[in-house]
Amino acid sequence: MPSELQLIHSEILQCTKCELHKSRKNAVPGDGPCEARIMFVGEGPGQNEDEQGRPFVGAAGKFLTELLESIGLKRSDVFITNIVKCRPPNNRAPRKPEIEACNPYLQSQIRLINPRIVCALGTPAITTLVGDQYSASRFHGKPLTKGGVTFLSMYHPAAALYDASLKETLFHDFQILKKLLEKEETLHPDAPKSVESSEKKQTLEKWV
Ligand code: URA
Ligand code: SF4
Repeated sequence: MPSELQLIHSEILQCTKCELHKSRKNAVPGDGPCEARIMFVGEGPGQNEDEQGRPFVGAAGKFLTELLESIGLKRSDVFITNIVKCRPPNNRAPRKPEIEACNPYLQSQIRLINPRIVCALGTPAITTLVGDQYSASRFHGKPLTKGGVTFLSMYHPAAALYDASLKETLFHDFQILKKLLEKEETLHPDAPKSVESSEKKQTLEKWV
């Protein structure tokens, strides 16, 4: 039987809720295990992603893989998606109505995957997930807990491709991510990974 996450992903593949569906080749729901402890949220699919239907497969994706490897993680350990699931024409920034139309998918993914940490990559993802007053330059590397989820803001890997100092900042912020993960693990060594099991545990705890 398809999981709820798979159902949402098939809905995304056929979605026509905003203008972006008109010019896409493929919608890009996201990639990774549904029990991932870490989730990455970028801005939107680019040309390669639109062609392949998978997130972060171009140059920025290659750098993201490198960043993950720097803290001992593989791409297959994490869930990767974007605030909009369809490519904005000519890679323009996604517009507010598009982000708002697509946001319920992102919120459902976060609820179902229930990761320990959500990394927001770049200012559009940061403002969407953490709040309008934040930006990558002012808030990168600073974790914030909201609604029981820890968010860590970072620069977008594409912004750092031709900027050595931003690259260094990203490697540094990934060290913060590593420390956060270690801390989460000591706080919740066997924390349930899905919302359902956490609810079950709470119900059980009431009775024991
Ligand atoms: N940049 C993004 O924000 N997302 C992708 O999937 C690829 C590049
Ligand atoms: Fe639907 Fe999101 Fe694609 Fe817009 S960007 S058509 S809301 S999936």
